[in-house]
Amino acid sequence: MKTIIEPFRIKTVEPIRFTTRRERKKILETAGYNPFLIHAEDVIIDLLTDSGTSAMSSQQWAKIMEGDESYAGSKSYYSFENAVKKITGHKHIIPTHQGRAAEKILFSIVGSKGKFIPSNTHFDTTRANIEFMGCEAHDLLVEIGKHPEKRADFKGNMDVDQLVKFINEKGAGNIPLVMLTVTNNSGGGQPVSMQNIKEVSEVCKRFQIPFFLDACRFAENAYFIKLREKDYAAKSVLEIAKEMFSYTDGATMSAKKDALVNIGGFLSLNDDSLAMNCRNLLIITEGFPTYGGLAGRDLEAVARGLEEVVDEHYLQYRIRSIEYLGEKMTQAGIPIIEPTGGHAVYIDAKRFLPHVPAYQYPGQSIVCEIYLEGGIRAVEIGSVMFGKYDKEGVLISPPMELVRLAIPRRVYTQSHIDYVAEVLIEVYKNRANLKGYKITYEAPMLRHFTANFKPAE
Ligand SMILES: *Cc1c(COP(=O)(O)O)cnc(C)c1O
Repeated sequence: MKTIIEPFRIKTVEPIRFTTRRERKKILETAGYNPFLIHAEDVIIDLLTDSGTSAMSSQQWAKIMEGDESYAGSKSYYSFENAVKKITGHKHIIPTHQGRAAEKILFSIVGSKGKFIPSNTHFDTTRANIEFMGCEAHDLLVEIGKHPEKRADFKGNMDVDQLVKFINEKGAGNIPLVMLTVTNNSGGGQPVSMQNIKEVSEVCKRFQIPFFLDACRFAENAYFIKLREKDYAAKSVLEIAKEMFSYTDGATMSAKKDALVNIGGFLSLNDDSLAMNCRNLLIITEGFPTYGGLAGRDLEAVARGLEEVVDEHYLQYRIRSIEYLGEKMTQAGIPIIEPTGGHAVYIDAKRFLPHVPAYQYPGQSIVCEIYLEGGIRAVEIGSVMFGKYDKEGVLISPPMELVRLAIPRRVYTQSHIDYVAEVLIEVYKNRANLKGYKITYEAPMLRHFTANFKPAE
């Protein structure tokens, strides 16, 4: 097989500003050893997130010029609505400025105290919006999904037996909807199988509970189904995506992921009265139902992005670039979540730095060192992000200490990825010399965004 090439030519370039190790040492110190506080200009390769960081195509930029900025009934809304309907098949399409706005509207209406929302794994904004309404958010991930070193095709699946048990325990009337996140972002970007989507849907129908997808990475998930699931190899990604949505009653979506744009989202659903309530709330929070917090030009870019994202040359390059980075790392012995998922490589920091205890934040140590070594920005997903304290002020750690290298869509080439692998391998060789960190400042909520650190003695 020949090299899988980037399926695009580059027409506009954005120069990278290079820094020296000495400069980066100073920058890191000034940022309190927290990459969120580093200026983007001081980063050589930015793998902080794949959200809103995509490169748009020349066609999307052309569509931006065609944006109809009419307040009501703009032409751009109808292109957007058509593009979303073509994939989801849902009856009502409600634009929002990003994914969490769709979640906020949905859960403000269906959520209240004493209700429960199960998912394979809730993303953090989804969980926060559910809990903000006084509901409980529950993760019912299959057991294999909890073992970073074990390989399986669909580690993002929901445990269907547990779902049935959960519904019987809590009562169907107390569960306003069931969600599935595709791919499972918080669980390593692992895909969910069509079989699992079907089974969850059947359970929901049996108990008359609406079933929603958190569809941010629906195209990456559909491509994994094509590659790995029996009977789907000959189907197109668009057909597979349509089938995924056909089992559902609605979806929330961040267009900043698989719609290849820098801002946007939507809520799509079939129920008329729920849609009416959502639109009424949209009007007081986001805007009129035909723009919902977006400019007409943004709606055009989303519509075009949804067409481009199901292109199989694009998805082959996308999934392969993540796998390629993962392979280079595992060949060098670096422990990662296997197999690699759709949008990121996750380093297992516990196995990378066994000599740094969780209370000295091994993930943060790796994140700082890869910035120092190569100007690469990544994010800790472990005790810094999810750590809580008990009554005595002792840190309670989450089960995994991870570092996420999220790959922006269509932004970096193979040589950028080779460089990332080289830097990581260098840091891994030097791992015995890496030290832990201490927190010197933290906010009461979502502390990872603003915390300050210093190296532990
Ligand atoms: C990004 C994301 C969201 C939230 O979307 P925003 O556009 O960032 O508000 C929700 N769910 C998942 C799985 C995501 O990855």
